[in-house]
Amino acid sequence: MPKLRFRAFTEATNREPVKIDEIKNGSLSSVFGVNVFDRAKMKLYLSEEAYESLISSIDEGKKIDRKIAGHVASAMKAWAMERGATHYTHWFHPLNGSTAEKHDAFLSLDANGKPLETFKGDMLVQQEPDASSFPSGGIRNTFEARGYTAWDPTSPAFILDGTLCIPTVFVSYTGEALDFKTPLLKSLAFLDKAALSVLEYFDKDARKVYATLGWEQEYFLIDESLYDARPDLALCGRTLMGHAAAKDQQLEDHYFGSIPARVSAYMKEFEIEALKLGIPIKTRHNEVAPNQFECAPIFEEANLAVDHNQLIMSLMDRIARKHKFRVLFHEKPFKGINGSGKHNNWSMMTDTGVNLLSPGKTPKNNLQFLTFLINTLKAVHDHSALLMGSIASESNSHRLGAHEAPPAIMSVFLGKTLSNVLNELEERVTDQKMTPDEKTELKLEIIGKIPEILLDNTDRNRTSPFAFTGNRFEFRAVGSSGSCASPMIVLNTAVAQQLTRFREDVEKIIAKGIKKDEAILQCLRKVIVESKKIRFEGNGYSKEWIDEAAKRGLPNISNPLEAFKTFLWDSSSKLLTGNGILTKRELEARYEIRNEIFVKKVQIEARVLGDLAINHIIPTAIGYQNTLISNVKGLKELFPENWEELADHQYSLIKEISDHIHSISHLVNEMIENRKQANQIENIVQKANAYNEKVKPYIEEIRYHIDKLEMIVDDEMWPLPKYREMLFIR
Ligand code: ADP
Ligand code: MG
Repeated sequence: MPKLRFRAFTEATNREPVKIDEIKNGSLSSVFGVNVFDRAKMKLYLSEEAYESLISSIDEGKKIDRKIAGHVASAMKAWAMERGATHYTHWFHPLNGSTAEKHDAFLSLDANGKPLETFKGDMLVQQEPDASSFPSGGIRNTFEARGYTAWDPTSPAFILDGTLCIPTVFVSYTGEALDFKTPLLKSLAFLDKAALSVLEYFDKDARKVYATLGWEQEYFLIDESLYDARPDLALCGRTLMGHAAAKDQQLEDHYFGSIPARVSAYMKEFEIEALKLGIPIKTRHNEVAPNQFECAPIFEEANLAVDHNQLIMSLMDRIARKHKFRVLFHEKPFKGINGSGKHNNWSMMTDTGVNLLSPGKTPKNNLQFLTFLINTLKAVHDHSALLMGSIASESNSHRLGAHEAPPAIMSVFLGKTLSNVLNELEERVTDQKMTPDEKTELKLEIIGKIPEILLDNTDRNRTSPFAFTGNRFEFRAVGSSGSCASPMIVLNTAVAQQLTRFREDVEKIIAKGIKKDEAILQCLRKVIVESKKIRFEGNGYSKEWIDEAAKRGLPNISNPLEAFKTFLWDSSSKLLTGNGILTKRELEARYEIRNEIFVKKVQIEARVLGDLAINHIIPTAIGYQNTLISNVKGLKELFPENWEELADHQYSLIKEISDHIHSISHLVNEMIENRKQANQIENIVQKANAYNEKVKPYIEEIRYHIDKLEMIVDDEMWPLPKYREMLFIR
């Protein structure tokens, strides 16, 4: 075996689970949040006045007084230093999808040169990192490259690796958002306002509505040595070649199976670290594909949940290295087996603890539930394409629309019980005033009969990209590597806008002298009818659904470049710009950035593949072919009479290898030529198109021949770890 693969194989098969410090008494709650400056610690470290003021700013979204900021900063510093922190950083989410931080020491020198630790209010509130190389989609020219970060007090500061991290937004000097958090916060405020205005019909106690998010993060683990021996994994996050293993997920023996020892040690350690950071991680299990796993927390307020997802991804990456693993968040690291998603479980909850998507005990509670459910349905119906656009990326395109993933068509699954309720409402409610009898019947027989616990009644439909699961919606098409913020921004805003409209419509009918609950029912019926085509209960992976969806006129956008274009649609701009979530310029910038990232991803893959094909695969194939040639020559020498018959297999392999080599070298040359041409294009959208049409298809074509060679060439000579090694060694 070639040295690198052999070493990787030996190292990987000989590893032991890493010993970790388990929690004493098994009490995970004892470590929960120890590294977070949460409310309990604020109370401990702040004066009562400062504490009250900070909390009311957080809860009511009011601006924080300078003086209070100063107090908070010194309290944070005191707490952080007690826990061994020496540095601080503003922690933000630039549009490249990762997190950014620039650490500064608390250490400073006073006027006399005496060293001391400082952390002042203005350092907490605002910073100006020289972050000019983050994507800005042309918003920041280099001459005005300054961007600044500003404290988000709704997401608590935390200590990571000796650094106090302060969650912040990231905006350009001219005020445009350069991150995901800024529009997310705006969308949450909008949803709060809109949901409250509708909630007033049912519940006078609630003063705030939060969006809640519980993400499920899927990922692959692969041994570090095997990873290092695969330049494609290391540089692209996915394998660009590799013949399927004879066995992978056919037997369905990995899903929910017992967790392998090394993996279990890894999970325990990153979970403990996550808990210390206040991430309420709860669930762990094997996923469908070999070496694929999932983790999920208890849901939280959406802004915090988004931060926590970003945080856990970097934590998982870091701790994986300690366990000699690499964690893969790419949506499709391995061809032919399941890819990874990040299901976003979303709902709305009041400050009094009521889940607005949970059925209640009484007809009144249930009417409230139906109101929020049906309006969400309509929001998804109206902006289905933008929702898909919000999660589109080069990497997610390998998964969406592919065999085992949700299709690139948005539809909503409600389950039989609720579908029936909606159908009944559609049938029984009219624009005419209802008789008291009709009303009672509807309330008791239909609305009142919604079971309080739908969870057990809902038939799970895992093929739906947007499924109702009893007390929340689960947006399943989100990719494993992406930020949850992007889909959450669109969903919150779309639902908020729909709720705002709904309130207006109900008010109009009430103004005509119709009673409130009847007005609500009439408006619900209208919304049910208008959003009907987004509802689908069948198999979302079937061919029939694709045809049916086309008949219904539902968008089916599997090309990510087309999906990005939804950012520019009139309806999207009305939604996001019209409601003050993103300006037109910010939207356009985001569109450009998506295209830019697309180009770079394909460019890198094409380069890596070209290199691997020419410098690793072809030389190996020639080496094996030479062995065959000597063998044939030898047979000919020994058996001049019947060598042709004896060398039949070898002889045809020699030719087959030549054919594949020829195709590979030919295709690589064409791909390079097309890449060069694409690189000449200035306009980023046209460039992305050129990459999509003229470069990307080669990646699969070249792979085809390489995978064929893998099946021909002597296993002892093959340079790269094979699928069976990467997927089964753990
Ligand atoms: P499954 O795999 O069956 O979908 P999991 O337990 O893996 O379920 O994940 C469900 C996720 O949904 C968890 O993160 C959970 O906290 C979250 N969740 C539950 N209720 C809500 C809610 N009201 N709002 C948002 N997320 C929720
Ligand atoms: Mg789920």
